[in-house]
Amino acid sequence: MKAVRALAYAWAAPYSAVGAMLALAVVLSGGRARMHRGVLECAGGALGRAFSHLPAPLAFSAITVGHVVLGLDHATLAAVREHERVHVGQYERWGPLFVPAYLVAGLIELLRGRRAYRDNYFERQAYGDTDRPADPAA
Ligand SMILES: [Zn+2]
Repeated sequence: MKAVRALAYAWAAPYSAVGAMLALAVVLSGGRARMHRGVLECAGGALGRAFSHLPAPLAFSAITVGHVVLGLDHATLAAVREHERVHVGQYERWGPLFVPAYLVAGLIELLRGRRAYRDNYFERQAYGDTDRPADPAA
């Protein structure tokens, strides 16, 4: 089982490396990093606060990049932990293909007249509602 976990980390490593660099930037801006069950959670500082001030389509409270989760603050990270852990699992399954697959899934929903984020297959999986079809009216 340890070999499978090691492979999952290695498969997601390209994104985790990017996440680690972003985490370092958050820490250097005054944020704090913690390990939680094998995932580096990083929040706060000037950069953490800036996440929520991005223009509407880009603003977020937390984002997962491989085995790194970045957020506004650690309370927010705790609140969205289960959702973000689903994304960690998606990085482990899809590896380097995850971000292109996520973007294609969003594009497909847009072309269907649905929402690129909330109706995205990977987000519906993280929200636990893959058993219902995406709502075309929303
Ligand atoms: Zn999500």
